[in-house]
Amino acid sequence: MGASVASALARRGVDGIVVVDVDLAGVYASSELNAGGARATWWQRVNVEACRLTLDFFREHAEAFSFRELGYLWLYDDADLYARAVERRTLQNELGLGVEALSVAEIAEHSPILDRNLTELVGATFSPRDGLVNPNAVRAWYRRDAEERGVVFLNRHYLSGVETALASAAGGSARRIRSVALSEIIAGVADEAGALLRLLTTHRVPSEFAVAESSLECETFVNCLGAWSPLLSAKIGVRDVTEPVRRQISLIDVNATDLAPGVEPETLGMVVDASGLYLHPDGAFFLAGYSPPGDAPGYDFSYDGQAFFERELWPRLAHRSSSFERCGHVRGWAGLYAVTPDCSGIVGGVAGFTNLYEAHSFTGRGVMQSYAVGRELASLIVDGCYETVDLSPLTRERFADPNRWIREDLHI
Ligand SMILES: Cc1cc2nc3c(=O)[nH]c(=O)nc-3n(C[C@H](O)[C@H](O)[C@H](O)COP(=O)(O)OP(=O)(O)OC[C@H]3O[C@@H](n4cnc5c(N)ncnc54)[C@H](O)[C@@H]3O)c2cc1C
Repeated sequence: MGASVASALARRGVDGIVVVDVDLAGVYASSELNAGGARATWWQRVNVEACRLTLDFFREHAEAFSFRELGYLWLYDDADLYARAVERRTLQNELGLGVEALSVAEIAEHSPILDRNLTELVGATFSPRDGLVNPNAVRAWYRRDAEERGVVFLNRHYLSGVETALASAAGGSARRIRSVALSEIIAGVADEAGALLRLLTTHRVPSEFAVAESSLECETFVNCLGAWSPLLSAKIGVRDVTEPVRRQISLIDVNATDLAPGVEPETLGMVVDASGLYLHPDGAFFLAGYSPPGDAPGYDFSYDGQAFFERELWPRLAHRSSSFERCGHVRGWAGLYAVTPDCSGIVGGVAGFTNLYEAHSFTGRGVMQSYAVGRELASLIVDGCYETVDLSPLTRERFADPNRWIREDLHI
């Protein structure tokens, strides 16, 4: 998100942009650990519009981003939920998504990989404009585009403090960000990943790192710290509602001879099962994820491995598809969702500050909104208003009034 905002600002002719990141390789960044799903099929207008604009951008660079418009097939076993999904098609299709409602009989015809226990379903939606993308290629594009326009990326720089000042000498309570303090990691330890995690979670640079302290004056500051954004908010007295929540993904190996007749993995997009499991082909394997509802918030990157696969994935896969009866766990990983109370992102200027902006906490949809958010936030910063997609519903001020929440139920 930081690279997207920087690229969009630079394209508007802003100079002197610096992106600060403690680890541009993204060992603990959600952007490097996600599932590569890209869809505009949401239930809230602002999310549909932001994702649709981003999907248009992915389509334009389809080859570079390995963007495949293979659709999302979403299965329902709850009649009320399905009725809402069918009702939300009005909005989605008004915005050009062409979402179809499928009967139970049509599901198997549509996706022969689904051949078990379909009678317990009540229907499905299929959204043909959605698909799969290589998120690392997208991130690399933003970064390269920004660099070509003069943006400086400071790697291994930890933002350790923020200095604020009153915005005007004439009084008033509005503040501005004056400068940020940086700790540059100039020499590391053997277990660098572990030390980075300790640094990010405890907010103290481990003594095993040699650091050089410096600071940067800021005319404008944008908080794009993802799941780590609350730590920064706490430093400047902004009450944050974001919670980091662990999400696990596994790669699964299926023997080609075990696939049910008619199954062609290369034509399959994302399948979201009624159980909450999601699945799509990923190179030689399948990628599947599931978010146990009770997972407690925290900065937890541990992956439960084979146990996760056996406990959460395999039973759900084999329940819906004979192709997964004899599949095997290959490997997997865990990353963080930055979750808000209404499961929508936080974007905009921060009240009480004249030069503080933010774009973070996208729950499970940062990649698929990344282009629109970067472009629109740049417009807000430079011109004072959004240009194409009105992101103002995503302001953090909405949390003061539950009627203004952008409740997004269609998340996985
Ligand atoms: C398992 C999983 C599956 C997902 N699936 C999808 C999907 O299919 N589609 C989709 O669109 N989204 C998905 N997401 C969500 C998506 O990955 C995120 O919304 C998105 O990557 C967030 O990007 P970001 O730039 O806001 O945060 P990040 O990518 O986390 O970037 C934040 C950066 O801030 C840096 N940082 C933090 N604190 C400091 C500090 N004090 N000083 C300096 N640097 C700091 C970190 O190093 C990091 O690089 C998934 C996420 C997970 C975990």
